[in-house]
Amino acid sequence: PESKLPSLGTTIFTQMSALAQQHQAINLSQGFPDFSGPGYLKKRLAYHVEQGANQYAPMTGAVALRAAIADKTEQIYGWRPDADTEITVTAGATEALFAAVSALVRAGDEVICFDPSYDSYAPAVTLAGGVTRHIALQPPSFRVDWEVFRNQLTDKTRLVILNTPHNPSATVWQPEDFVQLWQAIAEREIYVLSDEVYEHICFAPGGHAGVLAHPQLRQRAIAVSSFGKTYHMTGWKIGYCIAPPVLSAEVRKIHQYLTFAVNTPAQLAIADMLNAEPQHWQQLPDFYRERRDHLTNALAPSRFKVLPCQGTYFLLADYSAISDMDDVAFSKWLTVEVGVAAIPLSVFCADPFPHKLIRLCFAKQDATLDAAAERLCQL
Ligand code: PMP
Ligand code: GLN
Repeated sequence: PESKLPSLGTTIFTQMSALAQQHQAINLSQGFPDFSGPGYLKKRLAYHVEQGANQYAPMTGAVALRAAIADKTEQIYGWRPDADTEITVTAGATEALFAAVSALVRAGDEVICFDPSYDSYAPAVTLAGGVTRHIALQPPSFRVDWEVFRNQLTDKTRLVILNTPHNPSATVWQPEDFVQLWQAIAEREIYVLSDEVYEHICFAPGGHAGVLAHPQLRQRAIAVSSFGKTYHMTGWKIGYCIAPPVLSAEVRKIHQYLTFAVNTPAQLAIADMLNAEPQHWQQLPDFYRERRDHLTNALAPSRFKVLPCQGTYFLLADYSAISDMDDVAFSKWLTVEVGVAAIPLSVFCADPFPHKLIRLCFAKQDATLDAAAERLCQL
Protein backbone atom coordinates (compact mmCIF):
# COMPACT_ATOMS: atom_id res chain seq x y z
CA PRO A 1 0.00 0.00 0.00
CA GLU A 2 1.01 3.60 -0.44
CA SER A 3 2.49 4.64 2.91
CA LYS A 4 0.73 7.36 4.89
CA LEU A 5 4.11 8.25 6.42
CA PRO A 6 6.54 7.61 3.52
CA SER A 7 9.58 9.35 4.99
CA LEU A 8 9.35 7.64 8.36
CA GLY A 9 11.40 4.62 9.47
CA THR A 10 11.80 3.28 13.00
CA THR A 11 12.59 5.85 15.70
CA ILE A 12 16.15 6.95 16.42
CA PHE A 13 15.72 5.45 19.92
CA THR A 14 14.94 2.00 18.53
CA GLN A 15 17.80 2.29 16.04
CA MET A 16 20.43 3.40 18.52
CA SER A 17 19.45 0.95 21.24
CA ALA A 18 19.60 -1.88 18.70
CA LEU A 19 23.02 -0.72 17.52
CA ALA A 20 24.21 -0.47 21.12
CA GLN A 21 23.07 -4.02 21.79
CA GLN A 22 24.62 -5.35 18.62
CA HIS A 23 28.01 -3.85 19.53
CA GLN A 24 27.67 -4.25 23.31
CA ALA A 25 28.08 -0.52 23.70
CA ILE A 26 27.21 1.32 26.92
CA ASN A 27 23.80 2.69 26.09
CA LEU A 28 23.43 6.40 26.87
CA SER A 29 21.14 6.84 23.84
CA GLN A 30 17.48 5.96 24.44
CA GLY A 31 16.25 7.62 27.64
CA PHE A 32 15.63 5.07 30.36
CA PRO A 33 17.11 4.47 33.81
CA ASP A 34 19.37 1.45 34.38
CA PHE A 35 18.16 1.29 37.99
CA SER A 36 14.84 0.24 39.39
CA GLY A 37 11.86 2.21 40.68
CA PRO A 38 10.68 2.46 44.31
CA GLY A 39 10.26 -0.80 46.23
CA TYR A 40 6.90 0.29 47.66
CA LEU A 41 5.51 0.83 44.15
CA LYS A 42 6.55 -2.65 43.08
CA LYS A 43 5.02 -4.19 46.21
CA ARG A 44 1.74 -2.38 45.58
CA LEU A 45 1.61 -3.67 42.01
CA ALA A 46 1.99 -7.24 43.27
CA TYR A 47 -0.60 -6.52 45.95
CA HIS A 48 -3.25 -5.27 43.52
CA VAL A 49 -2.63 -8.15 41.12
CA GLU A 50 -3.04 -10.55 44.04
CA GLN A 51 -6.20 -8.77 45.21
CA GLY A 52 -7.76 -9.37 41.81
CA ALA A 53 -7.68 -5.85 40.34
CA ASN A 54 -7.09 -7.41 36.95
CA GLN A 55 -10.06 -6.34 34.83
CA TYR A 56 -10.65 -3.17 32.84
CA ALA A 57 -10.12 0.12 34.63
CA PRO A 58 -12.61 2.94 34.00
CA MET A 59 -12.03 4.42 30.55
CA THR A 60 -10.82 7.75 31.98
CA GLY A 61 -8.51 6.14 34.55
CA ALA A 62 -8.75 4.50 37.98
CA VAL A 63 -10.70 6.70 40.40
CA ALA A 64 -7.96 6.52 43.05
CA LEU A 65 -5.28 7.56 40.57
CA ARG A 66 -7.21 10.50 39.18
CA ALA A 67 -7.87 11.70 42.74
CA ALA A 68 -4.16 11.39 43.60
CA ILE A 69 -3.21 13.30 40.42
CA ALA A 70 -5.66 16.06 41.38
CA ASP A 71 -4.03 16.27 44.84
CA LYS A 72 -0.54 16.44 43.38
CA THR A 73 -1.52 19.05 40.81
CA GLU A 74 -3.08 21.22 43.50
CA GLN A 75 0.04 20.90 45.63
CA ILE A 76 2.27 22.04 42.76
CA TYR A 77 0.17 24.65 40.97
CA GLY A 78 -2.27 25.80 43.66
CA TRP A 79 -5.08 24.81 41.34
CA ARG A 80 -7.07 21.58 41.50
CA PRO A 81 -8.27 19.98 38.27
CA ASP A 82 -11.57 18.12 38.46
CA ALA A 83 -10.74 14.41 38.59
CA ASP A 84 -13.90 13.39 36.72
CA THR A 85 -13.88 15.84 33.85
CA GLU A 86 -10.31 17.12 33.50
CA ILE A 87 -7.90 14.22 34.13
CA THR A 88 -7.45 11.28 31.75
CA VAL A 89 -5.01 8.43 32.38
CA THR A 90 -3.27 7.18 29.23
CA ALA A 91 -0.81 4.53 28.07
CA GLY A 92 2.23 6.70 28.69
CA ALA A 93 2.59 10.28 27.57
CA THR A 94 2.90 8.96 24.03
CA GLU A 95 -0.76 7.99 23.89
CA ALA A 96 -1.88 11.28 25.44
CA LEU A 97 0.11 13.24 22.84
CA PHE A 98 -1.32 11.23 19.96
CA ALA A 99 -4.89 11.40 21.28
CA ALA A 100 -4.60 15.16 21.84
CA VAL A 101 -3.30 15.84 18.33
CA SER A 102 -5.89 13.51 16.77
CA ALA A 103 -8.67 15.20 18.74
CA LEU A 104 -7.72 18.77 17.90
CA VAL A 105 -6.08 18.87 14.48
CA ARG A 106 -8.33 18.93 11.41
CA ALA A 107 -7.34 18.54 7.75
CA GLY A 108 -5.36 21.60 6.66
CA ASP A 109 -4.78 22.92 10.18
CA GLU A 110 -1.32 24.22 11.03
CA VAL A 111 0.55 23.09 14.12
CA ILE A 112 3.61 24.85 15.49
CA CYS A 113 6.50 22.77 16.84
CA PHE A 114 9.78 24.05 18.22
CA ASP A 115 12.76 22.17 16.78
CA PRO A 116 14.56 20.14 17.94
CA SER A 117 11.22 18.51 18.77
CA TYR A 118 10.38 15.12 20.20
CA ASP A 119 9.88 12.65 17.40
CA SER A 120 6.25 11.68 17.99
CA TYR A 121 4.65 15.10 17.40
CA ALA A 122 4.94 15.66 13.66
CA PRO A 123 3.79 12.17 12.53
CA ALA A 124 0.63 12.56 14.61
CA VAL A 125 -0.04 15.91 12.94
CA THR A 126 0.50 14.40 9.48
CA LEU A 127 -1.88 11.52 10.18
CA ALA A 128 -4.52 14.02 11.30
CA GLY A 129 -4.17 15.80 7.95
CA GLY A 130 -2.44 18.80 9.51
CA VAL A 131 0.70 20.65 8.51
CA THR A 132 3.59 21.09 10.96
CA ARG A 133 5.25 24.51 10.99
CA HIS A 134 8.69 24.09 12.52
CA ILE A 135 10.35 26.93 14.40
CA ALA A 136 14.07 26.22 14.75
CA LEU A 137 15.61 27.01 18.13
CA GLN A 138 19.35 27.66 18.32
CA PRO A 139 21.92 26.30 20.77
CA PRO A 140 23.03 26.81 23.41
CA SER A 141 19.96 28.54 24.89
CA PHE A 142 17.26 27.10 22.58
CA ARG A 143 15.02 30.05 23.61
CA VAL A 144 11.90 30.94 21.65
CA ASP A 145 12.06 34.26 19.83
CA TRP A 146 8.50 35.46 20.39
CA GLU A 147 8.51 37.77 17.44
CA VAL A 148 9.41 34.89 15.14
CA PHE A 149 6.62 32.90 16.80
CA ARG A 150 4.01 35.61 16.26
CA ASN A 151 5.02 35.87 12.62
CA GLN A 152 4.34 32.17 12.13
CA LEU A 153 0.71 32.43 13.23
CA THR A 154 -1.88 32.29 10.46
CA ASP A 155 -5.64 31.86 10.24
CA LYS A 156 -4.99 28.15 9.98
CA THR A 157 -2.88 27.81 13.13
CA ARG A 158 -4.75 25.46 15.43
CA LEU A 159 -2.24 24.06 17.90
CA VAL A 160 1.14 24.83 19.48
CA ILE A 161 3.14 21.90 20.84
CA LEU A 162 5.76 22.71 23.45
CA ASN A 163 7.95 20.64 25.74
CA THR A 164 9.51 21.80 29.01
CA PRO A 165 11.87 20.66 30.49
CA HIS A 166 12.94 20.05 26.94
CA ASN A 167 14.11 16.80 25.43
CA PRO A 168 16.69 16.90 23.87
CA SER A 169 18.10 20.37 24.65
CA ALA A 170 17.73 20.14 28.49
CA THR A 171 16.54 23.77 28.61
CA VAL A 172 13.38 24.96 30.38
CA TRP A 173 10.70 27.55 29.69
CA GLN A 174 10.43 30.55 32.03
CA PRO A 175 7.06 31.85 33.34
CA GLU A 176 7.65 34.78 30.99
CA ASP A 177 7.57 32.41 28.01
CA PHE A 178 4.07 31.32 28.97
CA VAL A 179 3.00 34.94 29.30
CA GLN A 180 4.34 35.62 25.80
CA LEU A 181 2.59 32.53 24.45
CA TRP A 182 -0.72 33.59 25.96
CA GLN A 183 -0.42 37.14 24.63
CA ALA A 184 0.27 35.80 21.15
CA ILE A 185 -2.69 33.40 21.00
CA ALA A 186 -5.29 34.99 23.31
CA GLU A 187 -7.29 36.58 20.49
CA ARG A 188 -7.23 33.50 18.26
CA GLU A 189 -8.68 30.02 18.53
CA ILE A 190 -5.37 28.28 19.11
CA TYR A 191 -4.80 25.43 21.56
CA VAL A 192 -1.66 24.38 23.40
CA LEU A 193 -0.28 20.89 23.92
CA SER A 194 2.31 21.06 26.67
CA ASP A 195 4.55 18.02 27.03
CA GLU A 196 5.80 18.18 30.63
CA VAL A 197 6.91 14.59 31.15
CA TYR A 198 10.10 15.83 32.86
CA GLU A 199 8.24 18.24 35.18
CA HIS A 200 9.91 16.73 38.25
CA ILE A 201 13.38 16.56 36.72
CA CYS A 202 14.05 20.28 36.74
CA PHE A 203 17.16 22.00 38.12
CA ALA A 204 16.29 25.59 37.19
CA PRO A 205 16.39 28.01 40.15
CA GLY A 206 12.67 28.84 39.93
CA GLY A 207 11.72 25.20 39.37
CA HIS A 208 9.42 23.96 36.63
CA ALA A 209 7.15 26.51 34.99
CA GLY A 210 4.21 24.61 33.51
CA VAL A 211 1.19 25.57 31.49
CA LEU A 212 -1.13 24.70 34.40
CA ALA A 213 0.34 27.54 36.47
CA HIS A 214 -1.09 30.07 34.00
CA PRO A 215 -4.84 30.53 34.72
CA GLN A 216 -5.81 31.72 31.23
CA LEU A 217 -3.53 29.48 29.23
CA ARG A 218 -4.71 26.35 31.01
CA GLN A 219 -8.22 27.03 29.67
CA ARG A 220 -6.79 26.31 26.21
CA ALA A 221 -4.21 23.69 27.10
CA ILE A 222 -3.68 19.98 27.37
CA ALA A 223 -0.84 19.28 29.82
CA VAL A 224 0.81 15.88 29.54
CA SER A 225 2.92 14.00 32.09
CA SER A 226 4.27 10.47 32.60
CA PHE A 227 4.87 8.26 35.61
CA GLY A 228 7.50 6.43 33.57
CA LYS A 229 9.88 9.34 34.20
CA THR A 230 8.72 10.13 37.72
CA TYR A 231 9.12 6.58 39.04
CA HIS A 232 12.07 5.39 36.93
CA MET A 233 9.79 2.82 35.28
CA THR A 234 9.55 3.72 31.60
CA GLY A 235 8.21 0.25 30.82
CA TRP A 236 5.05 0.70 32.87
CA LYS A 237 3.68 3.15 30.30
CA ILE A 238 1.26 5.07 32.51
CA GLY A 239 0.83 8.75 31.75
CA TYR A 240 -1.96 11.28 31.89
CA CYS A 241 -3.26 14.53 30.55
CA ILE A 242 -5.04 17.43 32.20
CA ALA A 243 -7.32 19.69 30.17
CA PRO A 244 -10.56 21.67 30.58
CA PRO A 245 -13.73 19.54 30.33
CA VAL A 246 -14.49 20.40 26.68
CA LEU A 247 -10.96 19.47 25.58
CA SER A 248 -10.81 16.39 27.81
CA ALA A 249 -14.08 15.18 26.30
CA GLU A 250 -12.56 15.33 22.82
CA VAL A 251 -9.33 13.62 23.91
CA ARG A 252 -11.37 10.87 25.56
CA LYS A 253 -13.27 10.19 22.33
CA ILE A 254 -9.94 9.17 20.80
CA HIS A 255 -8.49 7.53 23.92
CA GLN A 256 -11.51 5.22 24.25
CA TYR A 257 -10.73 3.70 20.84
CA LEU A 258 -6.95 3.81 20.98
CA THR A 259 -6.65 1.80 24.20
CA PHE A 260 -10.05 2.20 25.94
CA ALA A 261 -8.39 1.96 29.37
CA VAL A 262 -4.89 1.31 30.69
CA ASN A 263 -3.29 -1.24 33.03
CA THR A 264 -5.44 -1.46 36.16
CA PRO A 265 -3.05 -2.78 38.84
CA ALA A 266 -0.29 -0.38 37.78
CA GLN A 267 -2.69 2.56 38.08
CA LEU A 268 -3.73 1.50 41.57
CA ALA A 269 -0.11 0.96 42.62
CA ILE A 270 0.84 4.45 41.40
CA ALA A 271 -2.12 5.96 43.28
CA ASP A 272 -0.87 4.28 46.48
CA MET A 273 2.65 5.51 45.81
CA LEU A 274 1.53 9.11 45.26
CA ASN A 275 -0.46 9.05 48.49
CA ALA A 276 2.10 7.25 50.65
CA GLU A 277 5.35 8.83 49.46
CA PRO A 278 4.82 12.34 48.06
CA GLN A 279 8.40 13.08 49.08
CA HIS A 280 9.60 10.67 46.39
CA TRP A 281 8.86 12.97 43.45
CA GLN A 282 9.88 16.01 45.49
CA GLN A 283 13.38 14.55 45.78
CA LEU A 284 13.81 13.97 42.07
CA PRO A 285 15.60 17.28 41.33
CA ASP A 286 18.32 16.49 43.90
CA PHE A 287 18.50 12.88 42.81
CA TYR A 288 19.01 13.70 39.15
CA ARG A 289 21.20 16.76 39.81
CA GLU A 290 23.67 14.36 41.37
CA ARG A 291 23.52 12.08 38.30
CA ARG A 292 23.98 15.10 36.01
CA ASP A 293 26.95 16.43 37.98
CA HIS A 294 28.52 13.00 38.12
CA LEU A 295 28.57 12.68 34.34
CA THR A 296 29.58 16.32 33.86
CA ASN A 297 32.54 15.91 36.23
CA ALA A 298 33.55 12.62 34.69
CA LEU A 299 33.65 14.27 31.25
CA ALA A 300 35.63 17.30 32.48
CA PRO A 301 39.00 15.86 31.36
CA SER A 302 37.58 14.94 27.93
CA ARG A 303 37.48 17.02 24.76
CA PHE A 304 33.67 17.10 24.85
CA LYS A 305 32.14 20.39 25.87
CA VAL A 306 29.08 19.81 28.02
CA LEU A 307 26.24 22.32 27.63
CA PRO A 308 24.25 23.63 30.62
CA CYS A 309 21.45 21.26 31.65
CA GLN A 310 18.43 22.77 33.42
CA GLY A 311 16.16 19.75 33.28
CA THR A 312 15.43 16.25 31.89
CA TYR A 313 17.91 13.39 32.30
CA PHE A 314 19.85 14.31 29.20
CA LEU A 315 23.11 16.23 28.69
CA LEU A 316 24.19 17.76 25.41
CA ALA A 317 27.85 17.34 24.53
CA ASP A 318 29.62 19.31 21.81
CA TYR A 319 32.17 17.13 20.00
CA SER A 320 33.52 19.72 17.57
CA ALA A 321 37.02 19.44 19.12
CA ILE A 322 37.00 15.71 18.36
CA SER A 323 35.49 15.18 14.92
CA ASP A 324 34.15 16.80 11.75
CA MET A 325 31.58 14.07 11.23
CA ASP A 326 27.92 15.04 11.17
CA ASP A 327 26.02 14.10 14.30
CA VAL A 328 24.35 10.98 12.88
CA ALA A 329 27.65 9.58 11.59
CA PHE A 330 29.42 10.53 14.83
CA SER A 331 26.76 8.86 17.01
CA LYS A 332 27.03 5.64 15.00
CA TRP A 333 30.82 5.75 15.04
CA LEU A 334 30.80 6.38 18.79
CA THR A 335 28.55 3.38 19.33
CA VAL A 336 30.40 0.97 17.06
CA GLU A 337 34.02 2.06 17.54
CA VAL A 338 34.11 3.61 21.01
CA GLY A 339 31.38 1.56 22.68
CA VAL A 340 29.16 4.42 23.89
CA ALA A 341 25.75 4.96 22.29
CA ALA A 342 24.36 8.51 22.02
CA ILE A 343 21.54 10.29 20.19
CA PRO A 344 22.20 12.83 17.38
CA LEU A 345 20.13 16.03 17.50
CA SER A 346 19.57 16.67 13.81
CA VAL A 347 16.97 13.88 13.67
CA PHE A 348 14.67 16.08 15.77
CA CYS A 349 14.85 18.96 13.28
CA ALA A 350 13.05 19.63 9.99
CA ASP A 351 15.70 22.13 8.85
CA PRO A 352 19.40 21.28 8.62
CA PHE A 353 20.93 21.30 12.10
CA PRO A 354 24.68 21.56 11.48
CA HIS A 355 25.75 21.70 15.13
CA LYS A 356 28.08 19.06 16.47
CA LEU A 357 25.98 18.00 19.43
CA ILE A 358 24.99 14.63 20.83
CA ARG A 359 22.58 13.76 23.63
CA LEU A 360 23.73 11.55 26.52
CA CYS A 361 21.29 10.01 29.03
CA PHE A 362 22.52 10.25 32.63
CA ALA A 363 19.69 8.24 34.24
CA LYS A 364 22.33 5.64 34.98
CA GLN A 365 24.23 4.18 37.90
CA ASP A 366 27.65 5.65 38.76
CA ALA A 367 29.41 2.57 37.38
CA THR A 368 27.68 2.97 34.00
CA LEU A 369 28.45 6.68 33.79
CA ASP A 370 32.08 6.12 34.86
CA ALA A 371 32.60 3.35 32.31
CA ALA A 372 31.14 5.50 29.53
CA ALA A 373 33.16 8.57 30.56
CA GLU A 374 36.36 6.54 30.63
CA ARG A 375 35.82 5.65 26.97
CA LEU A 376 34.79 9.18 26.01
CA CYS A 377 37.87 10.63 27.71
CA GLN A 378 40.11 8.57 25.39
CA LEU A 379 38.99 10.63 22.38
N1 PMP B 1 7.63 13.25 25.51
C1 PMP B 1 8.94 13.36 25.73
C2 PMP B 1 9.60 14.68 25.58
C3 PMP B 1 9.68 12.22 26.09
O1 PMP B 1 10.99 12.33 26.27
C4 PMP B 1 9.02 10.99 26.22
C5 PMP B 1 9.73 9.72 26.60
N2 PMP B 1 11.03 9.68 26.55
C6 PMP B 1 7.65 10.93 25.98
C7 PMP B 1 6.99 12.09 25.63
C8 PMP B 1 6.89 9.65 26.08
O2 PMP B 1 6.60 9.28 27.38
P1 PMP B 1 6.03 7.84 27.72
O3 PMP B 1 7.18 6.91 27.78
O4 PMP B 1 5.34 8.02 29.03
O5 PMP B 1 5.07 7.45 26.64
N1 GLN C 1 11.60 9.41 25.05
C1 GLN C 1 12.73 8.54 25.15
C2 GLN C 1 13.98 9.33 24.75
O1 GLN C 1 13.90 10.49 24.46
C3 GLN C 1 12.61 7.36 24.26
C4 GLN C 1 11.24 6.80 24.11
C5 GLN C 1 11.19 5.85 22.96
O2 GLN C 1 12.08 5.04 22.78
N2 GLN C 1 10.19 5.97 22.17
O3 GLN C 1 15.04 8.79 24.74
